[in-house]
Amino acid sequence: MDIHFICPHCPQSLVVDSAGSGEWINCPNCKSAIEIPSQTEPTFSKDSFSRKSFRSNSFVDFVIGNRLLKYLAVICAIVFTAYYFFPLIILAAALALYFIPSIVGRDKKNKEGIFILNFFLGWTGIGWVIALIWAVLKED
Ligand SMILES: [Zn+2]
Repeated sequence: MDIHFICPHCPQSLVVDSAGSGEWINCPNCKSAIEIPSQTEPTFSKDSFSRKSFRSNSFVDFVIGNRLLKYLAVICAIVFTAYYFFPLIILAAALALYFIPSIVGRDKKNKEGIFILNFFLGWTGIGWVIALIWAVLKED
């Protein structure tokens, strides 16, 4: 007699001779170690949640089968990445802020002058303001 069951770690359905009941095998699909059940398990709906929740008998199964935890892991990854790159983001924002006069005046005839003033004297504050005024002034 054959035992029909579904891998607890993936949707792979398996058929094993009942002589193998209780033994551990590796799932041919996901390679996870799985214990062969003693008899054919009743078939549940295709909905993985109901199947997983019925079959989950360990915390690992719960973690693997729970979509919410997957989303949480993704969110954690994004937060950690943002935290790691935070100084770079701040630096880029500061640079963009510093070169606003050059960006505003990029189409002006005197764009080189605006950029040089912005680059060399922008840090003084007054140089930055003058460069910005120069950048927004109308050309003749
Ligand atoms: Zn599997």
